[in-house]
Amino acid sequence: MNIAFIGLGNMGAPMARNLIRAGHALQVFDLNKSVLAEFAELGAQVSDSPAQAAQGTELVITMLPAAAHVRSVYLNDDGVLKGISPGVPAVDCSTIDPQTIRDIAAVAAQQGVVLGDAPVSGGTGGAQAGTLTFMVGGSAGHFAVLKPVLEQMGRNIVHCGDVGTGQIAKICNNMLLAISMIGVAESMALGNALGIDTEVLAGIINTSTGRCWSSEAYNPWPGIVESAPASRGYSGGFGAELMLKDLGLATEAARSAHQPVILGAVAQQLYQAMSLRGDGGKDFSAIIEGYRPKA
Ligand code: NAD
Repeated sequence: MNIAFIGLGNMGAPMARNLIRAGHALQVFDLNKSVLAEFAELGAQVSDSPAQAAQGTELVITMLPAAAHVRSVYLNDDGVLKGISPGVPAVDCSTIDPQTIRDIAAVAAQQGVVLGDAPVSGGTGGAQAGTLTFMVGGSAGHFAVLKPVLEQMGRNIVHCGDVGTGQIAKICNNMLLAISMIGVAESMALGNALGIDTEVLAGIINTSTGRCWSSEAYNPWPGIVESAPASRGYSGGFGAELMLKDLGLATEAARSAHQPVILGAVAQQLYQAMSLRGDGGKDFSAIIEGYRPKA
């Protein structure tokens, strides 16, 4: 298949490499010239603009930092919608707010282009290994077209509903993840302060009603889970800055829906404070450092 891939960053580059490995012909665009040179060596055709990348392709995939980038890549004078042919499907895999993708999809529909959303979870490790989860928003027909291609970059490809629902799934899950991580951090730190062995406490939690992914697979207390970022100085994993971005999307979306997200807002503020302290580059489980005396 002839595919346009725009946005070759930490996530997009390994995803695009997996498509090349699967035998697809790629037309690529990014603002970063060095990543374009790398893709030229892999046999991809390098374009001068999103419009040129989209020209003559059968599918357009975008993977960009935030809503403003997605808007400009699709809607600018040299944007995707200026190059794409009517009837060609497009999908944005960036994590952005649900309304932006709905707005751009409405503009695309006016020229016969079907645009959906498919944000991912699984991080850069999942992007490299081709094991991402894709949360897809769009019609059933659009999903059927996208699924075989997304399967070459991911393991779980889930149809969430109409356009925008992929983003809704992503931000609701990540808001809950932040809240549960903060809860586990608070509980582990309290247990330690009151004098219980943290390994014993984690064992009790993980066989009791407090058990969750944050306590069991990703415990923020160092040494409880060998493979967790807490056991290697909170390096790697899911950066607190990215969690802060997703919490901002959740609280903004909640505001527009007049829906209270009380714990989500508190979580957003805690990650904001962590970022201000200069710790935004650490894994998000390092939120526990705010509950412990400095080592
Ligand atoms: P990144 O910053 O590493 O990559 C973004 C790429 O887009 C860069 O190469 C940049 O040059 C390019 N770009 C920016 N503006 C552009 C434009 N106008 N035209 C063309 N290219 C442009 O970001 P990332 O880590 O790859 O994340 C991409 C998206 O995936 C984000 O929305 C992020 O929230 C989401 N996400 C990231 C992770 C993760 O672990 N990194 C996990 C899940 C989801």
